[in-house]
Amino acid sequence: MSTAIVLFRRDLRLADNPALLAACAKHDRILPTYVHAPAEHAPWTPGAASRWWLHHGLQALRSQLAAQGGDLHLLAGDTLEHLRTLIRASGATEVHWNRRYEPAGIASDTALKAALREDGLAVHSHAGHLWREPWALATDAGQPYRVFTPFWRKLRAGLPDAAPLPVARAREWLRLPGSLPTTALELLPTIRWDAGLAGHWTPGEAGAHELLEIFADDAVADYAQGRDLPARHGTSRLSSHLHFGEITPAQIRRVLQDRASRTDARKRPDLEPYLRELGWREFAHHLLHHFPHTPDANFNPRFDGFRWAAADEALLERWRRGRTGIPLVDAGMRELWHTGWMHNRVRMVVASFLTKNLRQHWRHGARWFWDTLVDADLANNTLGWQWVAGCGADAAPYFRVFNPYLQAAKFDPDAAYLKRWLPELASLPAKTIHEAWRHPSALASKGYPAPMVDLGASRDAALAAWGALAD
Ligand SMILES: Cc1cc2nc3c(=O)[nH]c(=O)nc-3n(C[C@H](O)[C@H](O)[C@H](O)COP(=O)(O)OP(=O)(O)OC[C@H]3O[C@@H](n4cnc5c(N)ncnc54)[C@H](O)[C@@H]3O)c2cc1C
Repeated sequence: MSTAIVLFRRDLRLADNPALLAACAKHDRILPTYVHAPAEHAPWTPGAASRWWLHHGLQALRSQLAAQGGDLHLLAGDTLEHLRTLIRASGATEVHWNRRYEPAGIASDTALKAALREDGLAVHSHAGHLWREPWALATDAGQPYRVFTPFWRKLRAGLPDAAPLPVARAREWLRLPGSLPTTALELLPTIRWDAGLAGHWTPGEAGAHELLEIFADDAVADYAQGRDLPARHGTSRLSSHLHFGEITPAQIRRVLQDRASRTDARKRPDLEPYLRELGWREFAHHLLHHFPHTPDANFNPRFDGFRWAAADEALLERWRRGRTGIPLVDAGMRELWHTGWMHNRVRMVVASFLTKNLRQHWRHGARWFWDTLVDADLANNTLGWQWVAGCGADAAPYFRVFNPYLQAAKFDPDAAYLKRWLPELASLPAKTIHEAWRHPSALASKGYPAPMVDLGASRDAALAAWGALAD
C-alpha cells in the first residue's frame, strides 16, 4: 500500500488541483497536510485580514475533506521537521505540492525539496496557481516583459485551453493523531473587529464558485463599463479566492466560456476585458519573479532619488482611518477597514492621494493594504502601488494625479458609494458632496472633517518634486 503526503499551501481546493490529483492517481493513501509557517514568508508574513481569511479557508477545506471521510492534518512550526515526522509515521514515499511564486516561498520550497530528496523521498512540485508560470514567457530578445500589452498578447495567444482538472478523491484519506484544531493557529483577531469581514465573504472553494456563478449570471455581461462603478457589484470579487487558490483562472475561464456559449449570440458577453484583468495578475507574478526586490524597492531606480515627504504618522493615520476630508478617499478607506476589500478604481484614487497629494512613500500604503486587505497579494499589491506611484513597470506617468472629486463625479454620479461608506453625508445632495469645496459648512455641519490638504497646491508640489527628479 503506497502513501503520499500532499502539502497544501495557497491551493485550498480539491478541484483543479494538480498536486492532489497526481498523488491520488498514483497512491493508495493520501495524507493531506497544512503546516502553518508564517516565518517562511518573512518579511511579508500574512497580515491580519489575510489571517482571518486563512482561518476560514482552512476550516472550509477541512469540511470538504471530512465529507469524503478525511481531514486536513494541521500543524504549526517548521515544515521540514513536521514532514520528516509525518513521513516516519505514515510510511509516505512521496510528497506533492503546488508551487508558490513569492521570493520567500520559492527559497523555502527549494530548500525543502533539497532536504527531502536528500532523505530519499520523491518530491514533486506542480504548477497550479496561474495560467502560465512566471518564467514561462519572455520577449523575443529573451528578456522579462516590462510592459503589459505585449505580455498579454503573448499570453493570450497561447492561453492553455485544457479543461480544469476534476475533484480529486483519494482511495483512502490517511488520518494520523496530532492534528491541531484550526483555532490553535490563532489566526483570528483577539479584539473582534472582523464582523464586517464575516458579513461580506465566504472563504473556501464553495464560496468562490458561488461568487463566480453570480458574476457569470450578471455582471460579466457589462464588465467593461460596470467594473469602474464602485457602487455596483460590477466585478467578480474573486481576488481573495484566487490568492488562496480556492479557485483557478482555468476554472473561471471555463465557467464563463460555457455560460457564454449557451447564451444567444446577440447577447453573448465579451469575456476579453475580464480575461485581460486576470492577465494583469499573471503580469504581476511575472514581474515579482524577475524583479524580486520590488516589494520594497522602486522598480524604476530613477525614483530612488525622489523627494518623498518625511513619514508623518498623523497624516498616515487620518488616511488609514478615512478621515482625510476628501470623500472618495475616505469612503474607500472605510470600505477597506469594514470589509477587507476595496474597489479597484478607489484603490487607485486612495493610492494616488497618499503618494502624490500627501507625498508619503508608496511603501506605507502597501503595508497598510497588506495588513487590511483580505486579498493581500505580494505580486498584485506591489504592482498596484508602484503603478499608481509612477515608479513601477508600465506605470501610470507620475504627472497623472487622480482628482478624487472628478473621479467620484464620473464613476459615482449619484454618490451612492460615498453615502454608503460615509453615512454622515447621506442626507446631502450628491452635487453638494461632489463639489464639497463649494459647501464646506454643509459637510462640516455633519461632523465631516475639512480636507487635510489643498488638492491643487499639493498636486503642484508633487509635480515640482517629480520635475526635480526629471532634470
Ligand atoms: C494600490 C493597489 C493595490 C492592490 N493590491 C492588490 C492586492 O493586494 N491583491 C489583489 O489581488 N489585487 C490588488 N490590486 C488589484 C485590484 O484592485 C484587485 O485585484 C481587484 O480590485 C480585486 O477585485 P475583483 O476580484 O472584483 O477584480 P476583478 O475586476 O473581478 O478582476 C478579476 C481578477 O483579476 C485580477 N486583477 C484585477 N485587476 C488587477 C490588477 N490591477 N492587478 C493585478 N491583478 C488584477 C485579480 O486577481 C482579480 O480578482 C491592487 C490595486 C491597486 C491599485
